[in-house]
Amino acid sequence: MASNRANSIEVKRINRNAIYKFLYRHEPISIQEIAYSLNLSLPTVTQNLKELQEKDLIIEAGLFKSTGGRKAKAIVYNSVAKYAVGLDITQNHVGIVLIDLSGKVIKNVRKHYSFANSKEYFKGVGNLVEDFIDDSGIESSKILGVGIALPAILSEDKQMVNYATVIDFKGGSVRDFAEFIPYPCILSNDANAAGFTELWGEKDTQNVVYLSLNNSVGGSIIIGKNIYTGQNQRGGEFGHMTIVPNGRTCYCGQKGCVDAYCSAKVLSDSTNGNIAEFFRLLRLNSEPQKTLWEEYLTNLVGTINNLRMLYDCNVILGGYVGAYMEEYIEHLRELVSKRNTFEVDGGYLHVCKYKLEATAVGAALQHVESFINSI
Ligand SMILES: [Zn+2]
Repeated sequence: MASNRANSIEVKRINRNAIYKFLYRHEPISIQEIAYSLNLSLPTVTQNLKELQEKDLIIEAGLFKSTGGRKAKAIVYNSVAKYAVGLDITQNHVGIVLIDLSGKVIKNVRKHYSFANSKEYFKGVGNLVEDFIDDSGIESSKILGVGIALPAILSEDKQMVNYATVIDFKGGSVRDFAEFIPYPCILSNDANAAGFTELWGEKDTQNVVYLSLNNSVGGSIIIGKNIYTGQNQRGGEFGHMTIVPNGRTCYCGQKGCVDAYCSAKVLSDSTNGNIAEFFRLLRLNSEPQKTLWEEYLTNLVGTINNLRMLYDCNVILGGYVGAYMEEYIEHLRELVSKRNTFEVDGGYLHVCKYKLEATAVGAALQHVESFINSI
């Protein structure tokens, strides 16, 4: 009997979760359509909807036009039932976003705040987060948690930092942040977070490779909508693939890494670190920007072609440089297609959709994903 009861509770939970996820992925829909699509009985759907409504997780969004008989209610998930906060921690800045359950950015700020592996720094981040949430006017009970994205390789359980060179945080832990942040905290690798954001809400795309072109180059491999982290959590560290044997020295100490040729710094070093200024001058055909750009593209094309050969899926360009790629994408597609052994067009190459704080959004989405799975 006990196990039967346990089974029936589990079945109930599975049904409720399936209904909630179905609503999450659809426009307003009727009870009848939910029952039909999920192959559940009307009473089962009605009962579960009642429970979800009591928790304020779904709302009735009016009535559908009648096709004869009683008009059907339109049910929709409540995207503002909960919120999540995401942080993008870099050497010199902290980006903070507040997203709703749909992943929409409700509020964001970016503060100049240099990373230091010290209590003072973590306390400062805690204060930034608390002020940010206060300013948003959202009740703290509606905040699922704070996701923290770092330029670092994490332990498998995502509690510890195993490798960090861009920021000096080797051996760091989620507890360093959590001590001063009164919400559940989760760490994410920065490029994995950004890649995850790009795929969130995409119904049809399952597999993608995301190349993050920031001041350091990273990336993520997403297979079946899940991040492939690899054996040592280093999957997608494209910045340290070798493209030029014995080439330029990388910050990691090796020679010829992609990072030394494709980081945003390669461009912005010519404009005092200002990437917007680089592209402004490039549009004016200024030197040395024009020459730097042509050289940069040659190396980028090689890297992109390698990724296409490895994974045979769409490649998304993100990061500081990716955010400026829209106007150059056709040219770049032409270049990658010329390099390709099998294909005559570069249609697989895309520019990131999220230009605003993709990394911080992805960190916050970790909480949203857990929440959705927990319903
Ligand atoms: Zn390297």
